[in-house]
Amino acid sequence: MNKKHKLNCDKCGEEVSNLKKLKKVNEGYLCIKCRRVNRKNHREFLRRDILKIPKRSDLLKEWAEKRKLRESIVGKVKVIKPQIKRPKEHRLRINTLGIYLTKDERLFLYKKLVQGENPLSSEEANKRINNLTEQMKTLIEDLRNKVKTQGEFKKRFDEGFAKLIGEMENE
Ligand SMILES: [Zn+2]
Repeated sequence: MNKKHKLNCDKCGEEVSNLKKLKKVNEGYLCIKCRRVNRKNHREFLRRDILKIPKRSDLLKEWAEKRKLRESIVGKVKVIKPQIKRPKEHRLRINTLGIYLTKDERLFLYKKLVQGENPLSSEEANKRINNLTEQMKTLIEDLRNKVKTQGEFKKRFDEGFAKLIGEMENE
C-alpha cells in the first residue's frame, strides 16, 4: 500500500490533507463525506427495509387516498339518506316492544307541561305522561286487533296519539 493511494478516498477519489481523515470500512479507505453518505443510506435502509417505517411522502399519499375514499362514502350516504327515514322506523320498532314514547317525545311533552300557561309540578307532569303511555298501550292493542296493514296502523295510531296529547294538555 503506497502512501499516495492512502491519501485518496477509495470511493470518490478525493485527496485528503492527512491520513487520519480517511477511515477503513468494507469498501476501503473513505473520506468523511463518503462515510456520511454511507451512514445516511444505512439509516434509510434500516428505517425503510428493516423497521418498515414509511416515507412521509408515502404517508401523505396514503392519507390523501383514504380521505378520498371517505369522501366518496360520505357522498353515497348523503344520496341514500332521504330514503332511510330513521326516526319513524325507530318509533315503530320501539312501539312493538311496548315502550310507546321515545325519550325525545317524553322530554318534549314534559317541557310543554311544566312551562305552559298553567305550569304543572314536575311530579304532576310525569304522572300525566305516564297516564298517556298507558292510554297509548291500550290504543295500540286496540289497533292491532282492528288494523291489518302497517300503513293503516301508523295512520290510525298518529290520529289517536294526537287526540291523546290534546286530551292530556286540556286535562
Ligand atoms: Zn470520498
